[in-house]
Amino acid sequence: MSAPVLVRQERQPAMPGAREVAPDVLRIQLPLDLPGLGHINCYVIPDRAGFALVDPGMPSTSSWRVLVRSLAEAGLPVRRCHTVLVTHSHPDHYGAAARLRQVSGAELVTHEHFKTYWDPHEEDDFVREVAVPGDYSAQMGAIENAMLRLTGRERHSPWDRPLPWGGPPPDNEWRERVRWRIVPLLRSRTWQPPRPSSRVRDGQVIRLADRDWQAVHTPGHTDDHLCLLDPTEGTFVSGDHLLPTITPHISGLTTQRHPLRDFFASLEKMFEFSEVRTVLPAHGLVFGDLIGRSKEIIEHHHERIATITNAALHAPGNELTVAEYSKVLFKPHSWGVMADSETFAHLEYLRQTGRAEARAVDGHLRYRILD
Ligand SMILES: [Zn+2]
Ligand SMILES: [Zn+2]
Repeated sequence: MSAPVLVRQERQPAMPGAREVAPDVLRIQLPLDLPGLGHINCYVIPDRAGFALVDPGMPSTSSWRVLVRSLAEAGLPVRRCHTVLVTHSHPDHYGAAARLRQVSGAELVTHEHFKTYWDPHEEDDFVREVAVPGDYSAQMGAIENAMLRLTGRERHSPWDRPLPWGGPPPDNEWRERVRWRIVPLLRSRTWQPPRPSSRVRDGQVIRLADRDWQAVHTPGHTDDHLCLLDPTEGTFVSGDHLLPTITPHISGLTTQRHPLRDFFASLEKMFEFSEVRTVLPAHGLVFGDLIGRSKEIIEHHHERIATITNAALHAPGNELTVAEYSKVLFKPHSWGVMADSETFAHLEYLRQTGRAEARAVDGHLRYRILD
């Protein structure tokens, strides 16, 4: 008997049309062609004034056409969009936001921390507490360079500076591996970066579809990640914070100081929302058990930490490089900078909570797990 094949919902191609997935909430699936992702869910919330829309999809013409056509088929001409809400600063979510604003004059709502490569950054954004004895200043230089690159002082390519954990820029290997499709679109002359007109804080109330939605800040996947809760209907728009059959990427290449710690806190925050009956993720299908899924994802990251600890136990001096841990954590088809980046986030979490030490050897960080 062969083992059942787990179908990753997030990989499936976009389904056509608009369908109601929660009271007064329509879903339109827009095409995506990224590793592990075949579509993005755009949620449409109609009201008397027109409609609000969450995550308008990729900056590509093909995605835009599907969006406009699907809205029209649902009787919602694109010009009646009064609010665009973007859950977080990833291009598959904000890509069409500026275009939608141009066409409709809609407000653009994001979390107050929302930042893209095109926004100015403070010097403080780049300081990370990677305390490495010896090679400290060189290491900090590498981190700063990576951060500068990532956050857009030079916006052309985030991926061609040394990695903060050591090693050469991942540029070509990275692009080839992940078939990076977004960068050329963002470089096109017609594309505009998103400029929010309204930035909201955690707990702030947003009125959409004649009812109150609560902004829920959920840092982890990104620092500016925003979910939306409608406590009356028990509907929760989860963005990439909670996905049904994959876990969101937690990156070590970020300006967040504590990405994994923040993510754990944002998952635990879900335990308060027992009224939620319908979770609307940015990829994959609608699901119901907000708290159960949050617990599964917390458990998944604790399993990763246990795998790291176990790998260290069997290593000489109980220490390994980020790439070495990464090869234990991930299957060969996932090896590369994205896996290393997530591994780095886990190792930094262990170091920041006093369970690991790091030192630089020949330009590479080595993490030793403490008992
Ligand atoms: Zn994302
Ligand atoms: Zn996403």
